[in-house]
Amino acid sequence: AEMFGQLTTGLESAWNKLRGVDVLTKENIAEPMRDIRRALLEADVSLPVVRRFVSSVSEKTLGADTIKGVRPDQQLVKIVHDELVQLMGGEVSDLVFAKSGPTVILLAGLQGVGKTTVCAKLAFYLKKLGKSCMLVAADVYRPAAIDQLTILGQQVGVPVYSEGTEAKPPQITKNAVEEAKNKNIDAIVVDTAGRLQIDKTMMDELKEVKKAVNPTEILLVVDAMTGQEAAALVTTFNIEIGITGAILTKLDGDSRGGAALSVKEVSGRPIKFVGQGEKLEDLELFYPDRMAQRVLG
Ligand code: GDP
Repeated sequence: AEMFGQLTTGLESAWNKLRGVDVLTKENIAEPMRDIRRALLEADVSLPVVRRFVSSVSEKTLGADTIKGVRPDQQLVKIVHDELVQLMGGEVSDLVFAKSGPTVILLAGLQGVGKTTVCAKLAFYLKKLGKSCMLVAADVYRPAAIDQLTILGQQVGVPVYSEGTEAKPPQITKNAVEEAKNKNIDAIVVDTAGRLQIDKTMMDELKEVKKAVNPTEILLVVDAMTGQEAAALVTTFNIEIGITGAILTKLDGDSRGGAALSVKEVSGRPIKFVGQGEKLEDLELFYPDRMAQRVLG
């Protein structure tokens, strides 16, 4: 199923009610606004976001700056489009690179969200940009995680830095930065341990790694399938460790898309990338305007 399929249909029923209408009024937009509200809620957009969104759209719809010569139903489409773009942060938020020395990209996230896969995808992305890259195995609790990263590194053709399961993540990461400096590597991507739920041990460890290496990017990897929860997760991680953005994975799955629409507004942090498949090339920058187009179908 296309992720926004249901949302697109729900929104269409809003403009369809304005077919043949000459001018937009408080009365004739009431029902379409209810349609928009319902469609967003059903797509797992978080409630406060839906409230603000609908109120802003109503206001603009009745505002003076309506466009001459454009049909009222088309005006609503345009207003919703522009509001969706704003909601998702307006502009694309690209990766930030360190001004000097290696760029350190720290990845955080719960278990199973696709963090290790994202490591490899990011390495692939960086290589395409012409940057040299190294992966760092800082998830020391699962030996399988180190093996998985090593195999992925081989697939992408980038080195993987590991000190096995005995060393501590802050020290491993610090040593990896040194190694990257010595070898003139542009960027390192650090895979950290995930847990089934947010817990203090995980947060403390991330804080220690952060303190040890002062990462350029701290990106939270979030599974889009978590729906409503995704925005809350980003908010919590941001308060706890101060993230620079989120990566939304599994957008090719059965998610209804709400996370893509809620994260920025609720957490103040942008979605930087979206993952939409298991292959290395299935990671793309998050473009709010393209995503808004997808929503509108
Ligand atoms: P981690 O525990 O967070 O490191 O998660 P993994 O990287 O091991 O991924 C968990 C599972 O999700 C694996 O089977 C991946 O192939 C799969 N996966 C990761 N990203 C995506 C994605 O964007 N789309 C789909 N369909 N599957 C993904």
